[in-house]
Amino acid sequence: MSKLNATHDPSRRSFVQSANRPDTDFPIQNLPFGVFRRRGGEPQGGVAIGDRIFDLKAGVEAGLFSGQAKVAAQAASGSTLNPVMMLDSAHASALRARLSDLLRQGAPEAAPIQGLGGKILAPMADVKMELPASIASFTDYFTSIFHAERGGRVRNPDQPLTPNFKHIPIAYNGRATSLRVSSEPFKRPNGQFRAKGGELQFGPEPRLDFELEVGALMRGNAQGTPIPLSMAESHIFGYCLVNDWSARAIQAWETVPAGPFQGKSFCTTVSPWVVTGEALAPFRCAAFQRAADDPKPLPYLASADNEANGGIDLQLEAYILTPKMRAANQEPSQITLTNLTTLYWTFAQMVTYHASNGCNFLPGDLIASGTTSGPTDESRACLNELSAYGTADIPLHNGEARRYLEDGDDLIMRAHARRGGCVTIGFGDCTGRVEPAVPWPAN
Ligand code: MN
Repeated sequence: MSKLNATHDPSRRSFVQSANRPDTDFPIQNLPFGVFRRRGGEPQGGVAIGDRIFDLKAGVEAGLFSGQAKVAAQAASGSTLNPVMMLDSAHASALRARLSDLLRQGAPEAAPIQGLGGKILAPMADVKMELPASIASFTDYFTSIFHAERGGRVRNPDQPLTPNFKHIPIAYNGRATSLRVSSEPFKRPNGQFRAKGGELQFGPEPRLDFELEVGALMRGNAQGTPIPLSMAESHIFGYCLVNDWSARAIQAWETVPAGPFQGKSFCTTVSPWVVTGEALAPFRCAAFQRAADDPKPLPYLASADNEANGGIDLQLEAYILTPKMRAANQEPSQITLTNLTTLYWTFAQMVTYHASNGCNFLPGDLIASGTTSGPTDESRACLNELSAYGTADIPLHNGEARRYLEDGDDLIMRAHARRGGCVTIGFGDCTGRVEPAVPWPAN
């Protein structure tokens, strides 16, 4: 687990003035990695600071890095972050320390950096963000006990949890090819489902949903090489937001017995900025407090350090922006406020479990937490839960209501780590818009 150092100092400010605003997601204490593209340019790696992106390639060319920081900056400057994910955590940490020194108020390099203008500090407003990594494999977990229990009660009120839930972090293999970066629209899926009257039909999904999740991008491990719990976090490069779009009618018909397939594989949206574990170090907390009579995990999934520090205090929000709100220039309507502390299993436990049978991660692989629902009504983190499985309207601030997503709706996710005595850091928006289903082509 990362220790606190000068990069976390709450009194440190940046000469990039927008990074000092209280509402920025990207103060100098954050420094997340991403891949951006200038108009007409190639994708390249950068680091967010306020409303700017520090161009790592330009920084290397200007001779601003040496040693491990230079190796990491070069590795993170290309069209994907995979090369920097192949390096150990000391490299990313050295780069973070150097960037924090370079960008702080009073840095000797401030004048030459500012002299390079947009060549080295690209305005975010002028670039397009790309997927941060080439992601070969995506695993989606199911680790919120509140999400599991609410859904389970619909199917089996007497025993909402499956017998394995408290013993292993349950997951399924997701679809990596249809991962998309925030802001890319997708089409409502077509599929087969039972309509309200019970008859089978094929057509546009009527119960399109989102799932508010946090993802971890992995460093990689060799096949056949388990990852002990004490080493699990060093295998995580950083974290992002994940929207596991879900077609509930298709999912309900297809899932038993082999798990989700067409209900999930049409699109998954991830946020472009990768917040490192080191940036989140001030916001670590105890793992989920299990009930006294809950079973203890088997020893390979348990440690005192994991119990004491395995959690991340990360506030998570979801909003809907309808076409009517957009037309009226209104703010989106908040529908969810939850926290990553609701997860029954920690990311370290997910990593150790994932690799325990010899399965390997490639650098850039994505594992997602599962829907981050908490115990309260406002912390329900998907529409299925919010609409009591399609039976209740979810009121929006402009008088509209939803049970599921309609064509033209944007679903926006945000995340903030905030704690007294710390500078708040954010993840940036994770947004996706639902476009109408394609008309089925003639046979
Ligand atoms: Mn999910």
